[in-house]
Amino acid sequence: MPEIQLKTLHLTMPFRIAHGVSSTRQVVRVHDDGAVGEAPFVPYYGEDVEATVAWLRGVKDVAAALPAGAPRAGELALNLLNLDRECCRAGVPLSAQVPYELSRHSGLVSACRSFSIPTDLQAFAESVAETARQFRVLKLKLGCGDVEYDEQIVATARRVALEAKLLADVNGGWSVAEAAEMIPRLGKYGMALIEQPIHHAGGLEAWRELRAALPAEVTPLFADESAQTHEDVALLKGLVEGVNVKLLKCGSFAGAIKMIEAARSHGLGVILGCMIESSIGVTAAAHLAPWADWVDLDGHLYLADDDYTGLTFDADGCVIMPERSGIGAVPR
Ligand SMILES: [Mg+2]
Repeated sequence: MPEIQLKTLHLTMPFRIAHGVSSTRQVVRVHDDGAVGEAPFVPYYGEDVEATVAWLRGVKDVAAALPAGAPRAGELALNLLNLDRECCRAGVPLSAQVPYELSRHSGLVSACRSFSIPTDLQAFAESVAETARQFRVLKLKLGCGDVEYDEQIVATARRVALEAKLLADVNGGWSVAEAAEMIPRLGKYGMALIEQPIHHAGGLEAWRELRAALPAEVTPLFADESAQTHEDVALLKGLVEGVNVKLLKCGSFAGAIKMIEAARSHGLGVILGCMIESSIGVTAAAHLAPWADWVDLDGHLYLADDDYTGLTFDADGCVIMPERSGIGAVPR
């Protein structure tokens, strides 16, 4: 029987995005036979923590096929547990699961650091300048409810990080009209991409409305909340230039590979993302880094009590994977 653990992780500072503010996050962990799997609970995805744990407790054989209707976090935690065990036995990393045909980047992969919506622009400027010494890619959370302040966030970051590749993530915080105004307006700051400018609840119709209101040549737009699985990717073709792939959204490592394959088959870019979660979850996701264009896997760096270690970053902000089989994250 696997050991099921519900764990509350504490953030060093509250993290503020368009969906709200967090100072703790829960993850569910399963341990079995020396292997480990983990999945985060995200407040705005409405996962039911108690139901997930109850479902996990009802799974008698972790390696057997899962019953239909599994809660997403429970499914992911078990999937990573099984993969960790299989890969450790075979002496290979999780990345060995990726099909050989899927084209990958060779060499070092630059990672991104994200900044929650700041309340103090001066402190924000100092933090961005400091972070930009190591990381070449910076992601700014926008969608605070005041588009003028959103622009100030971008202007501040650009002023202190002239060379950085800047990504914006609005987390659906703009209306279609605001997005139609802001996306061209932010063009002068040389953003590399803008993620989820409009709320996913508007569906494809809202994306179509936004695209119709924008000039043809505009900063690339990526979908995150609007793109949960590989099936969504096909629907978004022509409306976005890329999608954000996260293990939790897909419910499994194979599901994330499928989403990357779908994106590539439609000529779309890929951000590899994560939630605020421990080094177990981000390290599992980081095995897909060579297949992504952007690697946004810093969820563990917000934690005061990350009790595992795995993925790290070099002095230039590039991904360094642990040289271990399986997920490769180990207790600190
Ligand atoms: Mg996002």
